[in-house]
Amino acid sequence: MNGLELRLLDVTRTYQADELVVALDRADLVVPAGSCTALVGPSGSGKSTVLTLLAGLQRPDSGEVHVGDFAMHALPQRRLQALRAETVAAVLQVPGAGLLPWASARENLALVLRSAVCTRPGREPDELLSRLGLSSVAEIPVARLSGGEQQRVALATALVHRPAVLLLDEPTSQLDARSRGAALELLDEIRREEHATLVIATHDEEVAAVADAVVRVREGRLVA
Ligand code: ADP
Ligand code: MG
Repeated sequence: MNGLELRLLDVTRTYQADELVVALDRADLVVPAGSCTALVGPSGSGKSTVLTLLAGLQRPDSGEVHVGDFAMHALPQRRLQALRAETVAAVLQVPGAGLLPWASARENLALVLRSAVCTRPGREPDELLSRLGLSSVAEIPVARLSGGEQQRVALATALVHRPAVLLLDEPTSQLDARSRGAALELLDEIRREEHATLVIATHDEEVAAVADAVVRVREGRLVA
């Protein structure tokens, strides 16, 4: 499946902490199908909130969130879960989030491939692990891997079933120069050859450089 267009329409999302935090303030965003957008902005500006809304992991207070023809703000949980298994892959900011900690990298990838209803052939897990420099740790429970290794395993699980939409939250934050180069090369290839839609929250100018568009995030507002 080719990528899907992503849209936020007039989205507000607040959090009630000690005081009310306005994480997104009437934000609009269009990410064309098959393109790569980098979300760049200081910590606390709202980048992760954009990604979790697009992944259907939370809902807006007001406004609309669309992934292709799917109205994420209105779909029931069950449909959102199915969409995440098949179509929308998200790698969250916390290393290891979404991985089964007691299973190895290879087992984590196999599980994704088994549970996804793939609309096209998945990637070869061992080749993917090798490209990300993980061959030698592929059998070790991911809980015992370093933060950088877990970050690469999480990236691999997001890529293995070739989802139409990839949402990556600071995917290179824990990587050294070499792993970062390998990850970026892979992402660039996916963008050019597979036409997935990518949104990457990042502080990394090199990541922003592979994107088709950079959207600046400032205090809950998005500026193309
Ligand atoms: P970024 O990813 O750019 O660092 P976030 O989207 O994580 O920004 O957060 C935006 C704002 O919302 C910040 O002020 C953050 O502290 C606040 N925030 C995010 N998640 C929560 C939460 N679960 N509870 C309370 N405040 C939150
Ligand atoms: Mg964040």
